[in-house]
Amino acid sequence: MKILKFGGTSLGDAARIRHAAEIAGRQENCVVVCSAMAGVTNKLEEVNYHWQIGENARAADVLQLIQNRFEVQCRELFPDESHFIEILMVLRKLFQPVHKYLQKKYKGARSGEVLALGEIATSRLFHEYLNYTGISSGFVNITGIIQLNAQEEPVVKDITKRMHAMGAFREPGIYITQGFICRDSGGRITNLKRGGSDYTATLLGAALHAGSIEIWTDIDGLHNNDPRFIQDTLPIPELSYAEAAELAYFGAKILHPSCVWPARESNIPILLKNTFQPEAQGTLINSHIVPDGIRAVAAKDNITIIRVASGRMFNAYGFLKNLFAIFDRFRIPVDVVTTSEVSVSLTIEDTSRLEEVCDELRKLGRVSVESRQAIVCIVGNINPFLAEILHAVKPFHIRMVSLGASANNVTLVLPYEQKVPALMSLQNLLNHSKITTPDPCIQLQA
Ligand code: ASP
Ligand code: MG
Repeated sequence: MKILKFGGTSLGDAARIRHAAEIAGRQENCVVVCSAMAGVTNKLEEVNYHWQIGENARAADVLQLIQNRFEVQCRELFPDESHFIEILMVLRKLFQPVHKYLQKKYKGARSGEVLALGEIATSRLFHEYLNYTGISSGFVNITGIIQLNAQEEPVVKDITKRMHAMGAFREPGIYITQGFICRDSGGRITNLKRGGSDYTATLLGAALHAGSIEIWTDIDGLHNNDPRFIQDTLPIPELSYAEAAELAYFGAKILHPSCVWPARESNIPILLKNTFQPEAQGTLINSHIVPDGIRAVAAKDNITIIRVASGRMFNAYGFLKNLFAIFDRFRIPVDVVTTSEVSVSLTIEDTSRLEEVCDELRKLGRVSVESRQAIVCIVGNINPFLAEILHAVKPFHIRMVSLGASANNVTLVLPYEQKVPALMSLQNLLNHSKITTPDPCIQLQA
């Protein structure tokens, strides 16, 4: 069994859907995980926004525009009238309940259902089209399979159990399902956060012991720098799970940050492929560690540094435990941490409860906050190149440096306006360090 995940641009219109169907149709046994057509989830967020502030008519207009877009693609995919009408009715039935909600007052518990419509309608259209072209496929509602635990996290074991209970994916064949959406611990429709279809793909891959997980997107793999800001970036042919996870977490937009772990734990290779250029090699993510130098750089914005300084930390134990307990209580993930004997610096992205957090932290020491920062993460066999990396970022105002024990990444924090210049400077280093450091293991064997 194989998992194939198609992103929003790969299902962005009738032509893309046809192309994706060709790719899926070549398989004998696979689960196809569909994202919403490109841009649709953003629009559905708009629907929720207008609904929430009481602009129901406006919300309904935006929903209608989304529906029209599906209907236009439907017209193109099913040229003969009877099929077109049949699938049009299927689509209208999917949109109908949401139109009804929008006639009433906003209900937060329903907002997940609104967002889910993108994946539901797209996967349905894809499934109907496959069947229309003579490739029979099963349609699986993923919200019957993925339900979050009490901590609102997905758990592979639970998914496996539900899958078996439903008898889903039992027979060989092609199955179409939705990415992104799931049920929360209370059974309401929710999602795995933006970009979450990748995560659905790897969770299902792990639950099904898939042979591989192919993520079909609009770029020829994970690039060695951010292609939105840097011109001469290159796709990386192979990455280890750890390297890919760091890059995804620290800014590479192509992958959902959590999606590498389920695949890693089950040792299932992830292949990133480009639907617009299917012959391109793409990026293979697996357990193999390539003995290369600096592999790639990624960055993300909207980072806030919090520093806590305290004499009480000196030679004491329990200080860090108390400090992190505060973040735990507020359920705020901490990304980068550096410590000295008398102070701790850490970064967060979620500042929704910053004031409350700082009030608590002040009980431990002096607190200062610096917002508008960026994280730049450099992955690869870092140690031999540490001096070069630090030299490359010498002109910038580096606020934090973190080098992990695994030495597969070094993470820097700097003011966000210095992010792009720092990425450019590191790109020079990437270009000029076509690294030939021998793998220490190979050296030992020799
Ligand atoms: N449709 C969702 C989003 O736009 C999930 C995904 O595409 O992965 O975030
Ligand atoms: Mg994505």
